[in-house]
Amino acid sequence: MHAQLLCDHVTVYPLELPTPLPVGPVNAYLLCGMGQCLLVDCGPRYAPAWDALVSGLAQYGLTPADVTGIVLTHGHVDHVGNTRRFQAQGVPVYSHPRVSDWLEPGGAHDAYRAEFYRRLYHDMGVPEEAAARALEGLLLFHRWNDRSVVTHPVRAGEPLPPLPQFQVFEVPGHAQAAIALWNSDSGELLAGDQLLPHISPNPIIEPLPGADSGTAAERSRSLLDYRRSLRELAQLPIKTTYPGHGPVIVDSVPLIHRRLQELEVRRQNVLQCLCRHSPINAYELARLLFPRHTDQVSLILSETLGYLDWLQDEGLAYVAPDEEGVYQWMCA
Ligand SMILES: [Zn+2]
Repeated sequence: MHAQLLCDHVTVYPLELPTPLPVGPVNAYLLCGMGQCLLVDCGPRYAPAWDALVSGLAQYGLTPADVTGIVLTHGHVDHVGNTRRFQAQGVPVYSHPRVSDWLEPGGAHDAYRAEFYRRLYHDMGVPEEAAARALEGLLLFHRWNDRSVVTHPVRAGEPLPPLPQFQVFEVPGHAQAAIALWNSDSGELLAGDQLLPHISPNPIIEPLPGADSGTAAERSRSLLDYRRSLRELAQLPIKTTYPGHGPVIVDSVPLIHRRLQELEVRRQNVLQCLCRHSPINAYELARLLFPRHTDQVSLILSETLGYLDWLQDEGLAYVAPDEEGVYQWMCA
């Protein structure tokens, strides 16, 4: 057995993996010690990512066969696409139970999501052609994914079974089913995409589970979830954050407070823009707020709806459908 696995404390080893996606490289982490070597996230199903994973493991004297478990922080393809490779060897997969929905490319949940976004784009005023392009874009992600399943669901507040010094936190926001791992002895946080060094993650709007069809599904209020999750993390005496993208974060708590302040500033900008153009649908508002990113419909719409939800929550905005069923937002 390798030295890392025998060690009686757990060491975090970062691995940077390339992706074919605009986000750039993604981070995976090895948690080795106490007879375990868990891999937290595993990159997209993309040959250069797999090669980097194998050579990264070799750098620590390990091979894929030494990985004793996979932990997935959330279900996005840049984090989960290689899960099947390990699952096929009988390796357990730990994550939020609903991450399984993301591990079945082209499956029932993808159909549910596609129906949901089709309706959402209509209701939010996205013209048909732009909506069709955005929906097509969502399907493109399938090719970097592969079928697998969460075999060991974990829940907030529970210790991670193979390495109980890590506690599971649920951090909905960027994704609805998302977890972070917290080691209170070492002050280490594995944050997934909830806390990133250079940018704040997009609070992607998702259909909530439980409806008969995606058309009937309610939507998440992801920016409010993201803000709540950040505030929860701000309570922890974090020394080191291992993010899903970018370098390790050493000033975690000040960074979290900075992120929370940035949200307040942007909320103010959105309010001003809304009041100047009200009534306006979310798509048109998104184009005014993000004029350089108008081709990224799903991202700018999620961001804009997030702030509109927040303003509505505070009684500063309200919304009503017009005769075509397109929602018009107004400044209160
Ligand atoms: Zn993500």
